[in-house]
Amino acid sequence: MNLLKDYFELENILNIEQYRISQIKSWAFKKKITDISKMSDLPKTFRENLNLEFHVLELDSYTPSKDSTKYVFKTKDGYFIESVLIKEKDHFTLCVSTQIGCAVGCKFCVSALNGLVRNLGFDEIVDQYFYISKKENIFIRNIVFMGMGEPLANFEHLKKACFIFLKEFGLSKRHLTISTSGYTNYIRKLKSDSFMNSLNLAISLNATFDELRQHLMPNVMGSLKELIKELSNYPLAPRRRITIEYVLIDGVNDSLEDTKRLFNILKALKHKIKLNLIPYNPNPFIDFKRPKEKNVYAFQEYLLKNDISCTIRWSKGLETGAACGNLSYKKMISSDL
Ligand code: SAH
Ligand code: SF4
Repeated sequence: MNLLKDYFELENILNIEQYRISQIKSWAFKKKITDISKMSDLPKTFRENLNLEFHVLELDSYTPSKDSTKYVFKTKDGYFIESVLIKEKDHFTLCVSTQIGCAVGCKFCVSALNGLVRNLGFDEIVDQYFYISKKENIFIRNIVFMGMGEPLANFEHLKKACFIFLKEFGLSKRHLTISTSGYTNYIRKLKSDSFMNSLNLAISLNATFDELRQHLMPNVMGSLKELIKELSNYPLAPRRRITIEYVLIDGVNDSLEDTKRLFNILKALKHKIKLNLIPYNPNPFIDFKRPKEKNVYAFQEYLLKNDISCTIRWSKGLETGAACGNLSYKKMISSDL
């Protein structure tokens, strides 16, 4: 038996009272203690007979850098997935993977290089967080689903994982962020789910006209116009905004014309969104270039002048392959980065 894998069936499988299960969960998830012999409020014979595992992932390696640490986990079926812990000013953020590989096929992203292998189970999604917070003995306040994979293509497992993050780890909805390539059918599904649509949403836009967007994100479904329409009536709590992510790639989508087009696309959503520009993070497998700093700032300035809230995310962890778009399930690839 496994506390994570069998999470939703524990009562049936273990055949014990609910409050005993709550005690075990509290030891594991709240106190981060997985040594059954130390669970002192459980009767001794009960502890001795309890045959329970706590993790579904095995830690393969981890690479710290200044503000971030990249963790490589091995799944039970032998694949490698990655998570990145980021140290912010007053809290920690964990970037979590939701799939092994990715089917969207973005030309600028290492996660897409070998297509999709499979969805991660909710247990594998949660264990990235559980394992790392236990190992580092820290409270990780924020989770961003910005690791490998398209989270909304794995909706049911993502939802179960979010439920566990709230219930067992005491995280707040406002501190969970789903980042999606923005298939319009996925956005519609998200909108109709009152639990999932109350989490933070980030949309990867990345281009200002359909032809380029389709070229950069080949399998994405739905036009920019349809996407913006879906977002225009997205249910948002007061003062909450949708993040629009835009990877800036030298000579591809970083011109002043692009800035102007982006403004035109976003102006109707002005008060519902904030824009996050991500200068492209290079890697040896893809031929794009990082944009020139002056172009990044010029791009931002135009939008700020036109009253669009706009920040730049200079990714942490470039040197360890932990930055956005550099996560890959092939260990060979990730350790080469
Ligand atoms: N699949 C989801 C979440 C994972 S990607 C999505 O696409 O939103 C997280 C973010 O990293 C996305 O905004 C994506 O556009 C960005 N990204 C991917 N590759 C990148 C790269 N090489 N450099 C910078 N950002 C990248
Ligand atoms: Fe998938 Fe996101 Fe990478 Fe695109 S950017 S291939 S959607 S992980």
